Amino acid sequence: MFRNLVLIALFLTAIPYLASAQSFRIVPLGVKGGIDESNLSAYMLAPAGSNRYICLDAGTLHAGIEKAISSKVFNISAEQVLRQYIKGYFISHAHLDHVAGLIINSPDDTAKNIYALASTINTLKTDYFTWESWANFADDGEAPLIKKYHYQILKPDSTIAIKNTEMQVTAYPLSHSNLTSTAFLVSNKGNYILYLGDTGPDAIKKSENLHNLWEAITPLVKNGRLKAIMIEVSFPNEQPDKTLFGHLTPNWLMTEMDDLAALCGTDALKNFNLIITHVKPPQDNIDKLKAQLISQNKLHFNLIFPEQGKIINL
Ligand SMILES: [Zn+2]
Ligand SMILES: [Zn+2]
Repeated sequence: MFRNLVLIALFLTAIPYLASAQSFRIVPLGVKGGIDESNLSAYMLAPAGSNRYICLDAGTLHAGIEKAISSKVFNISAEQVLRQYIKGYFISHAHLDHVAGLIINSPDDTAKNIYALASTINTLKTDYFTWESWANFADDGEAPLIKKYHYQILKPDSTIAIKNTEMQVTAYPLSHSNLTSTAFLVSNKGNYILYLGDTGPDAIKKSENLHNLWEAITPLVKNGRLKAIMIEVSFPNEQPDKTLFGHLTPNWLMTEMDDLAALCGTDALKNFNLIITHVKPPQDNIDKLKAQLISQNKLHFNLIFPEQGKIINL
């Protein structure tokens, strides 16, 4: 009896600890890497207990918010989520599957920042927010300027505060297709999440971008402050290297994770949250790449396959 009471007391004292142990909340608005225009890369991210979100990429906004509302993640209207909860956009690169939702929703949106590397902002400025392809909702580029969005250029490796949120961000360049994509390292109160936009493996891209990123995060993996890595796997292993177009397969992801493990040790990666993004239809390929990842998970990651509108608490 006394022992049970002690256990109950221990459990009760652990509750606040368990609650405060949560660091971030992710609401996936879109999880796929192509074809299904109602479910393309976009992830709302906020500190646990906060509604001051950023949106990491913006391929799909409205359809994802509606899905999250029907899953009871939000109890306000889709319009309010878009206008009030999303405080800024982080665009990894300007491919349409990462920006279509932002462009289509722009007439109904509120004033906020768009954060990206200079090359990505340049594409938004010269190809999308123009009066030929849409309307210029930004504060730079073709006149007249509606000035709803402010372009905030991120410099690689430098950290800035994210406006109207409690979070900070550092951007790192990635090699993808013929252009530079971006990884965003987001922090709040000493806890971190790493989100990678589309990227190919270093070996194929003849690049050191991923290796440099792994070096940058190694101290955070070792001390347990990095809560998750969100990284793409676009194709199953059957995709030939010459048609990867700057993407990863399960084999290539695990090659990169071996590189990370060589820096931070395998113990630090056991049960580490690895969130798999940008899975490309058809569904047969998605099923195949998921099975391959599970069978090749020799580092024992906690593999997470996000679903549109389903909250991930970290
Ligand atoms: Zn993409
Ligand atoms: Zn892309």
